[in-house]
Amino acid sequence: MNKPAMPNSFRTGPDEQGMFGIFGGRFVAETLMPLILDLEEQWNKAKTDPEFKAELQNLSTHYAGRPSKLYFAEGLTKHLGGAKVYFKREDLNHTGSHKINNCLGQILLAKRMGKKRIIAETGAGQHGVASATVAARFGYPCVVYMGATDVARQSPNVFRMKLLGAEVRPVTAGHGTLKDAMNEALRDWVTNVEDTYYLIGTAAGPHPYPELVRDFQSVIGTEARAQILEQEGRLPDVIIAAVGGGSNAIGLFHPFLDDKDVRIIGIEAGGRGLDGIEHCASMNAGKPGVLHGNRTYLLQNADGQIMDGHSISAGLDYPGVGPEHSWLRDSGRVQYEPILDDEALEAFQLTTRVEGIIPALESAHAIAHAMKIVPKMDKDQIVIVNLSGRGDKDVHTVANMLGMEI
Ligand SMILES: *Cc1c(COP(=O)(O)O)cnc(C)c1O
Repeated sequence: MNKPAMPNSFRTGPDEQGMFGIFGGRFVAETLMPLILDLEEQWNKAKTDPEFKAELQNLSTHYAGRPSKLYFAEGLTKHLGGAKVYFKREDLNHTGSHKINNCLGQILLAKRMGKKRIIAETGAGQHGVASATVAARFGYPCVVYMGATDVARQSPNVFRMKLLGAEVRPVTAGHGTLKDAMNEALRDWVTNVEDTYYLIGTAAGPHPYPELVRDFQSVIGTEARAQILEQEGRLPDVIIAAVGGGSNAIGLFHPFLDDKDVRIIGIEAGGRGLDGIEHCASMNAGKPGVLHGNRTYLLQNADGQIMDGHSISAGLDYPGVGPEHSWLRDSGRVQYEPILDDEALEAFQLTTRVEGIIPALESAHAIAHAMKIVPKMDKDQIVIVNLSGRGDKDVHTVANMLGMEI
């Protein structure tokens, strides 16, 4: 494939149609078009409104706990014996990951639009919990669509959502996973156009979602950039983040995209290897197609059927990826690499032992890549890894993988 021409800036997308090059757009039912256009208009007003920004800022500080720290991971740095490793500590946020950044932004948008009801989709349940959290905080009824298979394997998160007052609707269509839950949420939205706000959990979906989720998550990169300049007096050499749908990654990456000396690496779930079908590496092993209202790289079989991915980490288990990542991949600005289940598991254990931090398995994928490249780098070089969340939620999975009983 021909590479698209290099733009002057990588930070100007999407265009008016919501396209990042050939990716993105809004491939939705005609009945949804007015809603999508309304959302776009309201978002365009909100993002430049000082009052909206002030309210989000206030909640981010006092409710979510921002700014998150940029932490020098001295133990890991010593252990690896190369570049200095820093963690951007999104694990310290309220509800334990970066997801609250997006949920706070979108609930304020829903409020501004006068919506009365929140719907969301969730795979592992992390976004469901974050959505139920902000719905509780703002007094909205909340319905969370979740694949029936996921409901069965993520019972603690299902219980959390119920405690927070949300209704969890199991989806039995398809394989009962995230893709099916997302379809069901879109269906609900079409049926309840007037009063319902659809709170999408990652930088995917029809335009303007990829843009607005990115902008809410860009607080990660904006803070990290300022923090490293203050702590080290210069920009990092490499930044790394795990890519599920791609929201924590684009949030870290976006403010650095025009810093051409900063190497940017996104990590996909390599699962049990890219040779078979047990992975979730849509950009390394997928093809462009349309899913959930946008054109992007997807896991598909030879007939173009969307396949269910596999990852040790439920949060990386999405068969597509946000469209901006697809564009950044093809333009060559960001490099996307797979990390296997076993490698992530090793990074999880190492980080826990040498840093006293239990990382989310998603984040452990990013750390695992740092473990590969850091030893080959100079001691005066700097790597920032996005610690997208904490790993308390993953201890059962890890115990299982290690053949241990809790
Ligand atoms: C959900 C989740 C991810 C993956 O989602 P993105 O949209 O790709 O960021 C990564 N890390 C953690 C901790 C998560 O909860």
